[in-house]
Amino acid sequence: MKPPPFGYHAPRSLGEALAALAAARDGKVLAGGQSLIPLLNMRLAAPAEIIDINRVAGLDTLEAGPAGVRVGALVRHARAERSAEAARVQPLLRLALRHVAHPAVRSRGTVVGSLAHADPAAELPAVLALLGGTVEAASVRGRRTIGAADFFAGPLESALAPDELAVAATFPALPPRTGAAFAEIARRHGDYALAGVAALVTVDEAGRPAAARAGYLGVAATPLVLDLDVSGGRAAAAADAAGRLDPETDIHASAEYRRHLAGVLTERVLHAAAGAARERG
Ligand code: FAD
Repeated sequence: MKPPPFGYHAPRSLGEALAALAAARDGKVLAGGQSLIPLLNMRLAAPAEIIDINRVAGLDTLEAGPAGVRVGALVRHARAERSAEAARVQPLLRLALRHVAHPAVRSRGTVVGSLAHADPAAELPAVLALLGGTVEAASVRGRRTIGAADFFAGPLESALAPDELAVAATFPALPPRTGAAFAEIARRHGDYALAGVAALVTVDEAGRPAAARAGYLGVAATPLVLDLDVSGGRAAAAADAAGRLDPETDIHASAEYRRHLAGVLTERVLHAAAGAARERG
């Protein structure tokens, strides 16, 4: 399959990239191309102009500090996954990235591209939503920071305006006495998940779960975040969470099966995240 014709731009600076995006009639950013190129080849997308950001200087920074992990637009999945500093500050990034496609796709695809693509079955949007992270957007009109709760507008739809480039995303650091876990079910390892969940559990001084929050993928049109009541134990919390989900039936799974998976996975991640929190002390 071949893509439809398009104009091609290969800017070398952010200013050039933003000017090209602003001037484009119907422009699309090309980052790792792991979602956009298949869409073009299958003729499911036909942008008039492609703005390839791979040569833009300054977009490949990965910084891990007390506030969190800031990932530039050209940081590939594989680099974020391997970063020990990023895993220390926010372990969910590595835990989730292991489930994103295959190593070959992860060596090229970008973290920010995955967020911009806004697939409701993708791992990283659910992680960013759970953590309350942010995306930094830039255009010739200026810069703005978009919270995850506002960023994911619908299936394959983000809050980015057509002339905006996502320059970076920040995944906030793990709070004290909190552990993280991630689990999903896919038919084959590397496929998009039928359902998945990321969780944060905070334990009290005695090591008992005191608060929990979960971020779901594959069960709604956008990533879904639920606060869970863990006072009655993790089985009850998981059953309650599953009952609050309203997934869709599609060719891959029925709504009922997805809800069931989400409940089972919730119980697992609550257990694992509480254990991780106790280990951190
Ligand atoms: P691109 O393909 O370059 O772009 C994707 C979209 O985002 C385009 O609309 C593009 O215009 C936009 N975009 C990209 N970067 C920016 C930016 N900085 N600013 C504004 N817009 C931008 N993903 C998963 O999450 N989970 C999976 O299990 C999974 N499995 C896969 C399996 C296969 C076989 C393949 C080929 C892909 C799979 N993917 C999966 C997708 C992969 O993770 C992509 O890398 C990711 O979705 C997009 O990142 P990218 O850099 O390749 O973006």
